[in-house]
Amino acid sequence: MSNLRIRRRDASARIAELSTKSGKLLLPNFFPVFNPNKPVVTPEEMKRIGVEAIITNSYIIYKNEKLREEALKHGVHSAIGFDGIIMTDSGAYQLYRYKGIEISNKEIIRFQHAIGSDIGTILDVPMSSDMSRREAEEGVKTTIDHAIEWKSISEELKGTLWLGTPQGGPYDDLICESARRIAELGFDYYGVGSIKVALEEYNFTMQADLLMKVRRFLQPSKPVHFWGIGLPSSFSLFVALGADTFDSASYALYAAEGRYMTPERTIPLEELEELPCSCPVCSKYSAKEIKEMEKGEREKLISAHNLYVSVQEIRKIRTTIREGWLWNLVQERARAHPKLLKALLHTLCKYRDELEEREPVTKRSAVFYSGPETLMRPDVLRARKAVERMRAERYFRTSIYGNVPLGLKYTFPFGQTVSMDEEVEDEPSDEEMVYSIVSYQFGVDAAKAFKNLRVRRSRKTGMPRDVYSDDMRVGFIRPQDGFFIPSLEGAELLVKALPWPACRVVVKKEHEDEVAKGITVFSNFVEELDPKIRPNSEVIVVNKQDRVLATGKAVLSASEVGYFEGHPFVIIRHHSMHRG
Ligand code: ZN
Repeated sequence: MSNLRIRRRDASARIAELSTKSGKLLLPNFFPVFNPNKPVVTPEEMKRIGVEAIITNSYIIYKNEKLREEALKHGVHSAIGFDGIIMTDSGAYQLYRYKGIEISNKEIIRFQHAIGSDIGTILDVPMSSDMSRREAEEGVKTTIDHAIEWKSISEELKGTLWLGTPQGGPYDDLICESARRIAELGFDYYGVGSIKVALEEYNFTMQADLLMKVRRFLQPSKPVHFWGIGLPSSFSLFVALGADTFDSASYALYAAEGRYMTPERTIPLEELEELPCSCPVCSKYSAKEIKEMEKGEREKLISAHNLYVSVQEIRKIRTTIREGWLWNLVQERARAHPKLLKALLHTLCKYRDELEEREPVTKRSAVFYSGPETLMRPDVLRARKAVERMRAERYFRTSIYGNVPLGLKYTFPFGQTVSMDEEVEDEPSDEEMVYSIVSYQFGVDAAKAFKNLRVRRSRKTGMPRDVYSDDMRVGFIRPQDGFFIPSLEGAELLVKALPWPACRVVVKKEHEDEVAKGITVFSNFVEELDPKIRPNSEVIVVNKQDRVLATGKAVLSASEVGYFEGHPFVIIRHHSMHRG
C-alpha cells in the first residue's frame, strides 16, 4: 500500500495524507528545524503556532548524553517535548560544516529508529555549487554506498519512513545518476538536496532546476522533501513543481539578523515603522517595542512571527490546491521578486511536458492573467494546443488561447479566464456547444457519437444542462466548468465512436463485477488505459470486450497509476449493475 493518499490536485501539487507511526501528516507541509542546543522557539510554542511537524538533528541528540538517554528510554517525542511528526536529520550538515563526524551511517540509522523518529534519513553528503568534479563524484559515491547500506538493514527498521536524497552538486550527470540509483532502492520518501550557494544567493532557478531534474527519477507515489527551503515566498513555486515538504532554520537565522518575514519578502526590522501582520506576536507588540527589546527576546519574538508567516503560507497553499488556484498564487509571488519570476519562466519553458503530465484538466477556479508566465502555464498551454487542432464554424478571439471554437465559451479554461480581453458577445448554439465540448474533452471522434442533439436549459439560469441524443439523455453540462459529464447511455455511444483505448480505463476481469456495482477503481484493478488521462479527466471504465461498466473521474494521471499501489484511481459516478 502506498503511504500517500491523494485528496486533491493542482499543478504538480497534491493535498495528500502521509501515514507515519505518529499519525497522519497533511501535505504540503513545512518542518521548522529545532536545534535542542539552541531552542529559540520551543517545540511547545511551535505547536501553538500551528506547526504540525518538525525536524531535528539526530546527531546532536546522540552527542548529548542526557538527551540521548531520554530519547532511547522514552522516545524522541518525549525527549524534545513535541507530540507531532518528527523527522530526524542524520547529521549530514555537521559533516558539511566541520568535516567528519564520529558515527557511522549504520549507527546513525539504527539510532534514529531506536529513538522512534517518524521519518529518518541516511547519512548523505551535502553539496555546494563550488565543489570540484572529484569532490562531487566522491560525495555521490559515499551517498549511494550509504543508501545501499540502509537497504541491507532495512528489514530491522520497519515503521520508520526512510528518506533518501540524491546528490550531485552542480553536475547534471551526477545528479541524474545519483537520483536513478537512490530511486531504485525504494525509499519511502525522497529528498532534493538544495545546493548551499544556490540558497544563499536567492538562486531560485538553480533550485527549481534541481527539483525538476531529480523528480524525473522518483516514483510519484512517494513524498518529495526539498531540503533547506525556508523563504515563504518561494514555497508555492516549489509546491507547484511537485515538492511536498520543506525544512528550514531560516525563521530563526533571519530573526537573529533582525529580518522580518512577510509572505512576499523579508524586511529588516529597523526599516519597519509598523508591523504589517496580525499574528499574536505582532498584535501584542509594536515595531518600536520590539526594536527596543534586548537581543535574545527580540530574536525569539521575530522567530515566532517568522514561523507564523511560514505556517500561514503553507495553509494558504493548501487552500489554493483545494480550490484550484495554485498557479495564480505562484504568479502573484513571482511578481514580488524578479528572481522568482525568472525561475518560474525558466521552469515552465524547460519542463512543459513533465508539468503537463500531472496537471489536472479542470479546476474550480479561474485562470488569472498576470503576464507572459500565464501563457506558459501547463493548463493554459495544453488548452491552447487542443483548440489549435479543432475545427468549428465560429470562433472567438482570445489573447491567451488564440482562436477558440465558440462552443467552448463556457468551458474550462476558456470560459474561466480573467484577462484583459473584451467580453465575447456571440452565443453558441446547443449543437455547437455539445460538439465542441465533447471534441475538446474526448477527441474529435467524439463528435460523431451523438445525433439530433437537443439541450435542456436550466429554467433559473438559462444555462445548458441535460443533453439528449435522439431523445435519449446522454449526459449533462456541468455548470461550474462547462465540462460534459456522460450518463451510462452517453458513455456507450462515446465508446462506439472513439478508437481504443481513448478515454477508457480497462479493468482486469476479476474486478469487472465490483466496478460494475459501483466500487472505486483502485490502481491495481487497471489492465490498460488511455495514456492521455490526467487528474480530473472524465473516464469510461470498460472490460476487455469494451463493454461499459461505469463512468467516473480520474484522480491520478495515466503515467502515475502503476506506482500507486492500492490507491483509488477512478471515483465512480454511474455504474451498470445494481449493488447487492
Ligand atoms: Zn506577525
